[in-house]
Amino acid sequence: MWLTDVRLVDLDLGAHAAAAVHVVDGRIDRIADAPPPEAPTLDLGGRFLLPGIVTVHTHLSIVFPFSDTDEDEDRALTALRSAERAHAALFAGATTVRCIHEQHRIDITVRDAARRGWFRAPRILAGGRALSTPDGHGQGTGSAYAKGADAFYAAAVAELEAGADHLKIFITGGLAHAGERPEVPEMTDAEIGAVVRAATEAGTYVVAHAGHHAAIRQALDQGVTSFEHAYVVDEATASLLARPGIFVSPTLSVTRSESWMRANHFEEHSIANAKAASGEHLASIQRLIAAGVTLTNGTDYPPGDDCDGVPAFVAEMGFMHGAGLSLRDTLRSATVNGAAVCRIDDEVGRVAPGYVADLIAVDDDPLADIAAMAGISFVMQDGVVLRDDRKGMR
Ligand SMILES: [Zn+2]
Repeated sequence: MWLTDVRLVDLDLGAHAAAAVHVVDGRIDRIADAPPPEAPTLDLGGRFLLPGIVTVHTHLSIVFPFSDTDEDEDRALTALRSAERAHAALFAGATTVRCIHEQHRIDITVRDAARRGWFRAPRILAGGRALSTPDGHGQGTGSAYAKGADAFYAAAVAELEAGADHLKIFITGGLAHAGERPEVPEMTDAEIGAVVRAATEAGTYVVAHAGHHAAIRQALDQGVTSFEHAYVVDEATASLLARPGIFVSPTLSVTRSESWMRANHFEEHSIANAKAASGEHLASIQRLIAAGVTLTNGTDYPPGDDCDGVPAFVAEMGFMHGAGLSLRDTLRSATVNGAAVCRIDDEVGRVAPGYVADLIAVDDDPLADIAAMAGISFVMQDGVVLRDDRKGMR
């Protein structure tokens, strides 16, 4: 099938051009000016075509407020909650999500059920349970708890053997719990090194919840390549993070979504923590942008959740652009860069021949105004049209 009358957004050039895109067996076959005569077509009516969104800081199973989490919850309940959120994220336009801590490793379950065709979910890169010290940021959320290098290594291997695609650790405190601080380190060099060793032996990598630059430098030295939050990062660390192969998800949503937090019954201490951190968080992300760090889109909220009228991943794009990231790089953060950190950038995150036909379309030019991303009206996954809101309207 040919998708015709599209304006193809080129995220390398930061430009768009009229095109037709040929999709065969779930992949992009070729791109041409126009389809051959008589070929089956789907007219997109001049819409702007982009790769499906790749968002990389997802918790499908998370419970709000966090204190309502029941670590002994029935797995079926966890699965139903998570499957619904996966479905919502996909139909909102997030065709790929990276999960980085799920109760009962439910991301692995949802991923495998979707792969078997039992329901539609985004392509899921699963992390299983995060690895946490018993009194660390992961406490009370169904993490895998460990203390000491040997215990962290064993916990890491257990997640990988259960089917995790990557590993998640908490190297600092965060903003969620009363009394915790994002600048407080939570793991030793040996513990971080042990998890990196387990990941490397399995051909994968480690994602770190990272609130402060001191722990980020510690983890960089141990070989961690994927960092989340970066609430407090100085200029010197920003330039270290600008190395090729290192990725940061700013998750600006975490410190600037008070109405969403209130709607989800967050406790006052969590809201106060987020508000207090928001100024330095923004300044830190601006240091990362100035240093040229490769940024990815991460929400920390279910990506399809409504945040002030748009899906969470779109709200995050708005925050990143608002922080000073160019429109082209904001779009790259949620496509090519996300695919790169997930190590699937040879087949996901671009509209190019050979790539998976995960595509979205918007009515207005996203290279002119990020607000265009609020208007996703077409979602295709693996060459199957899941949503075409304008169909039948013309
Ligand atoms: Zn998180």
